[in-house]
Amino acid sequence: MTTTMNRPISPINELSAGNVAVLGVPFDAYSSFLRGAALAPARIRKALFSASSNLCSENGLDLGESDAWRDVGDLVLTDDDDALTEIHRTVGELLARQARVIALGGDHFMTWPILRAYAKRYPELSVLHLDAHPDLYDELDGNRFSHACPFARIMEERLTTRLVQVGIRTMTPHQRAQIERFGVEVIEMRHIDAARAIAFEGPVYLSIDMDCLDPAFAPGVSHSEPGGMTTRQVLDVIQNFKGDLVGADIVEFNPERDPDGPTAMVAAKFLKEILGRMLANRGI
Ligand code: MN
Ligand code: MN
Repeated sequence: MTTTMNRPISPINELSAGNVAVLGVPFDAYSSFLRGAALAPARIRKALFSASSNLCSENGLDLGESDAWRDVGDLVLTDDDDALTEIHRTVGELLARQARVIALGGDHFMTWPILRAYAKRYPELSVLHLDAHPDLYDELDGNRFSHACPFARIMEERLTTRLVQVGIRTMTPHQRAQIERFGVEVIEMRHIDAARAIAFEGPVYLSIDMDCLDPAFAPGVSHSEPGGMTTRQVLDVIQNFKGDLVGADIVEFNPERDPDGPTAMVAAKFLKEILGRMLANRGI
């Protein structure tokens, strides 16, 4: 019997080694075009616990019956750089308890403070990044903290030993130069079949920007980019890449652009499958 009840918020000090923490990061102050992504964590939770579906992942785990994953609630964040400090601090606290983190965004800049905490715990961390955009701009509109820039900051600080990007279909000459400069591996959307063979040694952090999907599957994003991945192609990546998945984020879902809610259901499905994969492996 699976439950569709929302689960209570767990205080962080109740988490222990091997737990997976779902953390809401309602932050969209560094979006360049539209706000709204800050509303996403609540919508994804609502979709996850909707009575329209059950809580079983495709590998057969009943998430409703598992207390190895905890909802630690939403961060309370200001609209400025203090938010980045708070994201970094909280993720660091969770990792210090040997928990693993799935963060629900928010705009994509939040991946930078999260990976600052992850890089301390996992010095040999690989990052798998699904997105329509490389997010490697040195700056956008004069802002080095734009959601178009997180992976430039991540690579400058060497927070990952290997960055693999999948689904990219908007590269500018500047971003191609950044890819060369930082040694990023890219599976562009036009070569998407290569995503079937993604393999890593050791710990992997997965960052999913919802605009990696074709707008037909996920219209609720700020930067709609046609010609993207299917829901099933993303699920295949989540389920099948080789490596030890130790953390993830789902970002850039914008509920303001999702009045009928299909994108929330897709984000909740990704959350369910990421949880299923992470919980199948105790992580300690
Ligand atoms: Mn994007
Ligand atoms: Mn992005």
